[in-house]
Amino acid sequence: MKIQQWEPIDRLASKVNSGQLKAIDLVNKSLALIQQHKEYDAIISTLEQNAISRALFIDQQIKEGNNQGLLAGVPFIAKDNFLVFGADTTAASNILRGFRPPYQATIINKLEQQGAICVAKANMDAFAHGASTENSDFFITKNPYDKTRVPGGSSGGSAAAVALSLAPFALGTDTGGSIRQPASFCGVYGLKPTYGLVSRSGVIAMGSSLDCIGPITSRVSDAGIILGIISGPDELDSTTIQKDPQGYKVKDFKLRGVKIGIVQQYMSDGVDPQIKKAINQTLSQLKKHGAIISTIDLPSVDLALACYYIICPAEVSSNLSRYDGQRFGYSYPNAEDLYTSYLKSRGKGFSKEAKRRIMIGTHVLSSGYYDAYYKKAQTVRTKLINEFNQAFLESDFLVGPVAPTTAFKIGQHVNNPLEMYLSDIMTVAANLVGIPAASIPIGFDDKNLPIGLQLMAPQTKDHSLLLLSKSIEELIK
Ligand code: GLN
Repeated sequence: MKIQQWEPIDRLASKVNSGQLKAIDLVNKSLALIQQHKEYDAIISTLEQNAISRALFIDQQIKEGNNQGLLAGVPFIAKDNFLVFGADTTAASNILRGFRPPYQATIINKLEQQGAICVAKANMDAFAHGASTENSDFFITKNPYDKTRVPGGSSGGSAAAVALSLAPFALGTDTGGSIRQPASFCGVYGLKPTYGLVSRSGVIAMGSSLDCIGPITSRVSDAGIILGIISGPDELDSTTIQKDPQGYKVKDFKLRGVKIGIVQQYMSDGVDPQIKKAINQTLSQLKKHGAIISTIDLPSVDLALACYYIICPAEVSSNLSRYDGQRFGYSYPNAEDLYTSYLKSRGKGFSKEAKRRIMIGTHVLSSGYYDAYYKKAQTVRTKLINEFNQAFLESDFLVGPVAPTTAFKIGQHVNNPLEMYLSDIMTVAANLVGIPAASIPIGFDDKNLPIGLQLMAPQTKDHSLLLLSKSIEELIK
């Protein structure tokens, strides 16, 4: 697959602001590319009307001499769990088919204030439950490098869209790996920021103590610009924190003396040897440039997956209780009473995976089982936080694979949820601990499928993570 990249987003915006490029042409180009690559099923809906009228407005403002911001006229694609005016927000679920959002996500407003234009909504696993987009209630997105394989998930549509260059960037959400794993499967850059750095207001909640929002881009510098715009406090999300005063702009970074720890447990026998080889090659390049590489032991990290699959469903079961067939979304017609309406609306509206998580979540929270499961998982979570804190005393960054394999075949794991969950084994810890983590492309396997390297930094060190990413991007070129 040949990716014909867009220019860097700051360059696009300055050309639009100077009148050298027209916002309407960028929007039309993006809409045409979406049309042209329909067979990949990356997109659920387009916002043609809104996008075109915004582009024309921006062009007119510029003609009148008004600068339109850091992303003037730059098209982007949002995962379909972001509330955006001009299209339905479905989270790829039947229960939200036809749902028109009454307000927009904070970060969509922030991007729009800088002139960016949302052109489409991307496919995903319904409610972001999954690692392949096969759990979408609508259709399965195909991997741009091999149509018989998955793009990863749950932000599979967003990652495939960027790999196909349908727009210069896309937005994803990451609760247990959903930005990083699809980014690695599709050969693009994906950043999950520090928990709380980006407001989740107006984004459909999955697991509220884990959910993060971040950019998926074809180059690291674009991700830095986007993070600079979308980060920071928001009174509509009480978990939000201050942004780094130095901002997130990517500049040159000296690798000399930088301490990088490879997570020993993540390089086990279960990982595809080609992935390990690519990672070791990248690390030896980093070493050549002065980085100090060591091996880090995180004794409890093997428990992270089990811990995640208790805490996450517990929060999912609570967050999905609002879909009751009364207030929004699908409502079972002619139910004889309110209780039957709840049961039938939820029974028909939710798919298998959502039901599985509601049942697991309700079970682990129920009296009698709470101590055995939920409380124990929270104890493990604290242990993980302590181990990561300890590791970051020795290393500036931790690295490892993103997933044990490259993109797998469509249908390979979909009937075996446990097998599917194993795809998250190396990504969930960053969410449980709340640290920033990224996936950066470092090569291909013998089937020409992209390989990603996972990079992790201490909480709030998102800028450093971007700088390390940039230097790896330079080395890999
Ligand atoms: N694959 C993981 C899950 O199914 C992560 C999903 C996500 O990050 N949204 O829960």
